[in-house]
Amino acid sequence: MTSEHTKETKIVKEIKIDLDKCIGCRACEVACSAFHARPRYSSTNPARSRIRVIFDALNDVYVPIRAGDYTPAECTGRHSYTIGGKDYQECSFCGVACPARDYFKEPDSGLPLKCDMCESDPTLEVPMCVQVCTCDSLTYHEREVEVTASEPREEMEVGLEALANKYGWERLMDTAARLSKKG
Ligand code: SF4
Ligand code: SF4
Ligand code: SF4
Repeated sequence: MTSEHTKETKIVKEIKIDLDKCIGCRACEVACSAFHARPRYSSTNPARSRIRVIFDALNDVYVPIRAGDYTPAECTGRHSYTIGGKDYQECSFCGVACPARDYFKEPDSGLPLKCDMCESDPTLEVPMCVQVCTCDSLTYHEREVEVTASEPREEMEVGLEALANKYGWERLMDTAARLSKKG
């Protein structure tokens, strides 16, 4: 049986990260958490930021990484990179919210956080973290790419799956039923 894939083009928003220019000021973390606070700008908490600046002490370099998708299990194997004679672990460049570390999990609920490129209403022309990076370590670009069309997963679906993996579907459904009766 053959499967048909629909090809289409789309604009990919991209934030380029120049490690050589990052001074580790963490303004990007503060700005991202403030922009996504509810109400907007009501609080700052880097633990809620969708970009985190990792200090790699071995290489004396700051590595900003943006939150990507959630996964219920850490990688079974790892690889490392050698760049300019310096060794980096795979996790140093990975934006996944995974059990191997505490990054990109909402501190109160434990729900995964994901960078939305500041597309929440109103969408910013230039993402907030790029706007505040006065060192130009973060720069914003757009490019056109060809992709295979597929259904995007909604934030709620990803969040529910994360809760179900943590607590089990039965407990999740029981809790939802109890809360709906209260509401
Ligand atoms: S705002 Fe720019 S220079 Fe400061 S930590 Fe973030 S990426 Fe690095
Ligand atoms: S942080 Fe990324 S690279 Fe590291 S174990 Fe998790 S998914 Fe794998
Ligand atoms: S693009 Fe927006 S959501 Fe993503 S890390 Fe930057 S400030 Fe946060």
